[in-house]
Amino acid sequence: MEVQETKPQVEIESFTLDHDAVIAPYVRLIDTTSGPKGDTISNFDVRLSQPNEEFIDTASLHTLEHLLAKYLRPQIEGYIDCSPYGCRTGFHLLVWGELSSLDAARALKKALEQTLETSWQEVPGTARKECGNYRDHSLEGAKKWAAKILEQGISADAFVHIPV
Ligand SMILES: [Zn+2]
Repeated sequence: MEVQETKPQVEIESFTLDHDAVIAPYVRLIDTTSGPKGDTISNFDVRLSQPNEEFIDTASLHTLEHLLAKYLRPQIEGYIDCSPYGCRTGFHLLVWGELSSLDAARALKKALEQTLETSWQEVPGTARKECGNYRDHSLEGAKKWAAKILEQGISADAFVHIPV
């Protein structure tokens, strides 16, 4: 028996983006969504490496995740979360309210500059009790990626590379 499709097809914006057309590193506002109680959430595509050309190794990405949580939160009012993509080329950044791509890119730039100055003792949540895979970290790798991204420059436009 054939299974009938009853629900409308879900369209996921991230999968409609032409990943060959973008120029990383960049910060792109995907959309702003309003909830039933009137709150707005802004959703950003924080792309750190060029799709299908390079990806970040898991240990470096994991440490970057912990450091972005530490360094982005105090810079961005309404910060909710910054979580890595499964493809390991970047992060989703979620923020309460509205924020421009330019301000998000500037905050990311500062967070990566702070990453370069970080000692292992300053990386948050790296004890066994605090993390789901506490052995899988690389501060050295996170710093290498941070330096590379800063050297390339972070654009607030995904398709035209104008570093902030
Ligand atoms: Zn962790």
